[in-house]
Order: sequence, then C-alpha cells, then structure tokens
Amino acid sequence: MSFINWPLKPLYLLQNKQLLKSLKHLNKYFIKYRIRLILGLLIAVTSRLFAVAVPKFIGDSVAEVELYVKGEINNIEIVKSSLFINILIIIGCALLSGFFMFLMRQTVIVVSRFIEYDLKNEIYEQYQNLSLSFYKANRTGDLMNRISEDVGKVRMYAGPALMYSVNTITLFAVVLTYMSSIAPMLTLYTIAPLPILSLSVYYLSVAINKRTTVVQEYLSRLTTFTQESFSGIAVLKAYQIEGRTTNDFNELANQSKQKSINLARVQALFFPLMVCLIGISNIIVIYIGGKQYLNGQISDFGILVEFIIFVNMLTWPVATVGWVSSIIQQAEASQKRINEFLETVPEIKNDKNAISTPIAGAIAFKNVNFTYPDTGIQALTNISFEIEAGQTIGIVGNTGSGKSTLLELIGRLYDPTHGQITIDGIELNKIDLQNFRSQIGYVPQDAFLFSDTIENNICFGKNNATESEMIEVAKIASVDKNIINFKNGYQTLLGERGVTLSGGQKQRVSIARALLKKPNILLLDDSLSAVDTETEKQIIKNFKALSEKRTSIIVSHRISSVKNADLILVFEDGKIIQKGDHQSLTTQKGYYQDLYNKQSQKKEM
Ligand code: ADP
Ligand code: MG
Repeated sequence: MSFINWPLKPLYLLQNKQLLKSLKHLNKYFIKYRIRLILGLLIAVTSRLFAVAVPKFIGDSVAEVELYVKGEINNIEIVKSSLFINILIIIGCALLSGFFMFLMRQTVIVVSRFIEYDLKNEIYEQYQNLSLSFYKANRTGDLMNRISEDVGKVRMYAGPALMYSVNTITLFAVVLTYMSSIAPMLTLYTIAPLPILSLSVYYLSVAINKRTTVVQEYLSRLTTFTQESFSGIAVLKAYQIEGRTTNDFNELANQSKQKSINLARVQALFFPLMVCLIGISNIIVIYIGGKQYLNGQISDFGILVEFIIFVNMLTWPVATVGWVSSIIQQAEASQKRINEFLETVPEIKNDKNAISTPIAGAIAFKNVNFTYPDTGIQALTNISFEIEAGQTIGIVGNTGSGKSTLLELIGRLYDPTHGQITIDGIELNKIDLQNFRSQIGYVPQDAFLFSDTIENNICFGKNNATESEMIEVAKIASVDKNIINFKNGYQTLLGERGVTLSGGQKQRVSIARALLKKPNILLLDDSLSAVDTETEKQIIKNFKALSEKRTSIIVSHRISSVKNADLILVFEDGKIIQKGDHQSLTTQKGYYQDLYNKQSQKKEM
C-alpha cells in the first residue's frame, strides 16, 4: 500500500465488500433479531438527545452568570433561581441518558449473546454431521477454537462493535448538528484532530490484537504442555524426567512472559495517546474559541464551556471508530474460518431416495477397495465375501491388515473407494443413514466412555431403556458383577472425577452399550482383547444363548473368540488370504494354523 493510501486503510477495509463477505453469514441472525436491534437503535438516539442537553444547560448557566457579571441582569435572585432550575434539568437529563444507555446495552449486547448461542449451535450441529475423515484431517484444538475463540470474536462484532458504532453515529449526528448551528467555524477547528485520534487508535488496536493472538497462542501451548504432563505423569515419574519437564516448562513460561510484556508495552501507549489528543483538542477550543470570543465572533462565554464539554464527549466515540474497525477485521477473519467449516459438505451423504427399513443383517462385499483419503494408504484390496443374516463371522490378521477398516465400512463411517457393499441385497448407500445406524451395534477398538455414570454410559444409545434392560445387557457382557461391587453401583461416576475402569471393564461396558440397542448387526473390533480368557468364554457363551437372531462380526487376536464362528476370514495387507470355518482352517497350512498352534501351546505351558 502506498504511503498516500495508508491513512485511509481502515476506511478501505470497511468498504471493501470482498473483505466483509464472510460476515454476511450473520445477516440472517440480524434479521432474526431485527425488532430488538431497531429498538436498541431508537433507545440509543434517545439516550444521546438527553446527553447532549447536559452541556447546553451548563453553557446556558455560564452565559447567565456572564450577563450578571457584565451588569446586564441586576437581580441576583433571578439568576439564582434559573441556575437552580438548570441544575435540576442537568441532573434529570444525565439520569435519563444513563437510563436509556442501560436499556440499549440490555438490547444490543443481549442480542449479541443470542447470536453467539445460535452460531455455536449451528457449528456444533455441523460438527456432528461431518464424517470421520474430517476429524482425522483437523486437529481437535482447532475445532474447539472455532466454537469458542472465533465465535467470541464474531460476537464482539455483533454486539459491542455494533453498539459503539450506533453510539458514535448518533452522537455525531446530534452533537455536530447542534455545534455547527451555534458556531460553525469553531466546530471545524475542534473536530480537526479527531480523525488523527481515530487512526492512531486503529493502528494501536491492530498491534494490540496481533500481540494478543501471540500471547493466547503461548497460553494454549502452556495448557497443552501441562495437560499432557499431568495425564502422562505415571510415565514421567517412571522415567524420572521430572527435572527435564520442569526445565521445559520454565522455558515455555519464560517465553510466554516475554510475549505478555510485549503486549503490555503497546497497551500502555493507549491511554496516554488518548489523553494527549484530547488535550490538543481542548487547547484548540480554548485558543481559537478564546480569540473568536475576544473578537466578538462568539456572543457569549457559555459557548466555549459547551464546546469543551462536547470535545470531551466526542473523543471516546471517535477513538472507538478505530477500535471498532479492528474488531470488525478480526471478526471477519474468524467468521471466514467458521464458514470454512460450515461449508464443508459431509462425505457420507444420505441419499435423497434413501429407504428406511428394518434390516435382517445379511451382508455382502463385492470387490471392495478402500483407500484412506488423508494418507492415501490402501487399506482394503478386492474384498469379497457374503454373510447370511444371523451368522457370526470371525476376522483375524496382523495389526494393520485392514480389520478395523472393514468394520468402519460396514458402519458406514467411510464409503468404499471401489466396489459394492449390500445389506439384505440393498446397496448400503441407498439405506437411510440414521435408520441403518440405529440398527447396528459397534464397539470400536479403543472403547470410549464418557465422564459420566456407568448407567448413562450404557444407556447412551437408547434413552428410554429400563433398569432391568440395562442390567440384562450388563450381565450378558459379564460386567454386572464388577459394577455391583462398586459402592455406587450403576451410579458410579467414571473418568476424571470418578472411578477409572480397567481396560477389560471398559470393553465390557462398551459391549453392554452396543447390546442395549438390540442391534441386528453387532460389530466387535478386538473388543475382548483385555478380557481374561475365562470371562471371554463366558461372554461368548452368553452371546450364543441369546434368543434374538443377529449378525455378529468379531475381530480378534484370539482363536478362542472366533473358533465358533460360521465363517472365519484371515486378513493380510488388506486382502483376504484364507476363508473357512475353524475346522477347515486348522487343517490348512497357513496363518490361521500357525496362530492356533502358538495359542494352544501357550495354554499347555
Ligand atoms: P487393523 O485393524 O487390522 O489393525 P486397520 O484397518 O486399522 O488395521 O488399518 C489398515 C491400514 O490403514 C493400516 O496401514 C493403517 O495404517 C491405515 N489406517 C488406519 N486408519 C487410518 C486412518 N484413519 N487414516 C489413514 N490411514 C489409516
Ligand atoms: Mg484394528
């Protein structure tokens, strides 16, 4: 930007439509709350009118005293009584102005809180719709920032920035009209330094915002650092590196301190600068106005007093012009980031003509390939198999062979890159997503429990479950006996403020959660790995005893988990290398036989 242009930069920013494009997203909310906003505007104008009356009556009072001093009024009683009335009016106007200011905050700032709430909900809803691959591609911290920090900055635009703009515009309109009606030339001189004030505040605000961002970045680094060292405290202690982490922390805290000092330095300039510029304006009024008064261009001394009060009234709003433009700039950047998320189309789409139907659970894969979009790793190659409804399938294979990926495709967390998956002969992507997911029970490899009661964790997928239903599934998953041993039973809190479950207990609670939905397809991804073999046997026996017909797919590293399955698939490098039941696979040379031999030897030892 050229030197001549730079003072105009703030205006340029505000005018540039391209730059403010993102904030248009908020227009629907402004329309939604238009009545409150218009009300706020009217109240702002009213408040201004009362505020402007104050200097006028002070000026009038001074003029009255001047007339008495000059001897143009002789009766002191008349002066006294009119001064008394003026004082009452001034107090009244100030109180009313303050009251309307209070009302305006109640409308405009409250609207900005409404908008903040709506926007957070809008973002959160979108987060829920987005596919798994979106979460793999974006860091959790970024997602959290969108919904907290960025929304906060946008709120500053929808609330305070709007309010101060309305304030400034109405004040200017009212005050300038009045001022120029009584002394046009003096008005011009008085307001001349104000644009400089506005510009300086703008540049200062931009510098402050930049440094604030850096400070916040360091704060979040510190938070992440401490959080990680707290959750990994057992490892830190075991490796005796407390000293090293303390040093690292010191280093980070020191950098953070330095950034805060940098910020404080710029912030310290703010008020001195304002006071200095207000002072200059005051001097101009006194100097020029004084001269004009002596020349007789201004009729009474009261006008000078009024103008000094007006200048002081105008400076803060003028300063806010600079501040507001920096807020708008930040809000624009934040809204742009938010819009990027809002405009992301979920990869897993619900077909317009999708059907909702109860499924029986027959699954067929036809030449399915799958490549992870983010890493480009081909996790599945040419997978074909068929399962009848109600059958149990076992899947074994080394880590990284594609077992979890297969289950994710069945749960439609991803769509295949090539090939076709059908459920009861219907293409999976032709079935309504919600309807389909409500009929499957999926226990992911890393079982996740919320920091909530055990009851809520089990009943998570089915809100209207009865207590006996919950206990029934807990018994099938063989976790009931553990839970009733806790002091608070099913009401036991899990997570940070509660009990930590063992790996095996977690897995079994997750299984109970999946079973409660009475799914027609049950997907267990290595969900018994941390369960001891006796309990595992019991769970598998419980499954078999269930009266409902259900298709089960059990991924496992243990032969014992899969040996009763109707069909066993052996995976290697994303391909099926062996297929058959336990009987036939143990007699074939290959992975399955080796695994079987290894695991049965272990038992004998
Ligand atoms: P298994 O469950 O048999 O251990 P996975 O299905 O988890 O195997 O992984 C198969 C392959 O896909 C591996 O090479 C793994 O690195 C890769 N993979 C798994 N999950 C992802 C992911 N979310 N993004 C990219 N690559 C992945
Ligand atoms: Mg896996």
